[in-house]
Amino acid sequence: MADCTYTVPDLDASGDTLYGSRICDQPFIDFVWYGHGFNSRYWQGGWGFDDCCNITKPLARAFNAMWLLNYSPEDYMNEDWGSDMLHWGPRYVREQFKSYDDLRAQCGDGSAKARTTGCQQSRKFLAWKCTDERKERTRKCESWFFLFSWICYLWAWVVAIACYAWGFVSQTACSVWYGTVGGGQHVDLFLWFFYPLDGSGNADVVARAGTLVHESRHIGDKPHDAQFPGGSVYGAGKDGADSSWDYQGAWMYHALYLWWFYAAGARTTLALRQSAKQNANVILTNAFATSPGLLVL
Ligand SMILES: [Zn+2]
Repeated sequence: MADCTYTVPDLDASGDTLYGSRICDQPFIDFVWYGHGFNSRYWQGGWGFDDCCNITKPLARAFNAMWLLNYSPEDYMNEDWGSDMLHWGPRYVREQFKSYDDLRAQCGDGSAKARTTGCQQSRKFLAWKCTDERKERTRKCESWFFLFSWICYLWAWVVAIACYAWGFVSQTACSVWYGTVGGGQHVDLFLWFFYPLDGSGNADVVARAGTLVHESRHIGDKPHDAQFPGGSVYGAGKDGADSSWDYQGAWMYHALYLWWFYAAGARTTLALRQSAKQNANVILTNAFATSPGLLVL
């Protein structure tokens, strides 16, 4: 932690005092440590590996967010995909983070709270683009004379198979790249994730939980696909926005989780629920190229 300096904001206001009294429990620590694929090399020293109940240090502050994620539904044992996001969100986060199995803490340069590296683009390509194009081609075949339309359908499939094959090759190439010189597929949590560095940033426990949800969606094949709209607090015209709510990207998951936490979060405080609402509304008005036209009221 040589180059990192930070100040610890009020522990009551951030919710850390409340959640900090709950995380200091070995079975819980094992559950989240392995469940989210922490990479112990990056959590040594000042990051809190040997002091993991100390809520002034980063590791305990990450644990607090994970406690919030996993125990905020009234009936937290229910993680059914058919339920709402408050219930399945934590399961999604664990599954995605575990698939990388490499969660790190880093100083960062203050420009982001977290970063997810990896082969999102190529997996997205494989899973979605080819099928989409095949459907588009087959749709056009309907206008062909029926005696010859089979040629059109056959061609659509030939193109699709070539597309899947290319996707497979590019995904493999990408995995090889990250597995060797590319530095591995991993998630970095930067200092700004743990502490509001500029005084304006919101880094309370529920904001951290929201960021974990956000990054998990990046692991789950959804890179940002648009630029921030005019007037956005994230910087109009800069990359990092999602095109729309329907894209179901990281910002949509992020806002949806906060929304549900505000509406139905248990074992928490009204102040944190209101913070979630505020945070959700900032995302809803600033993070989508096409406004979803939603607000949490
Ligand atoms: Zn993002």
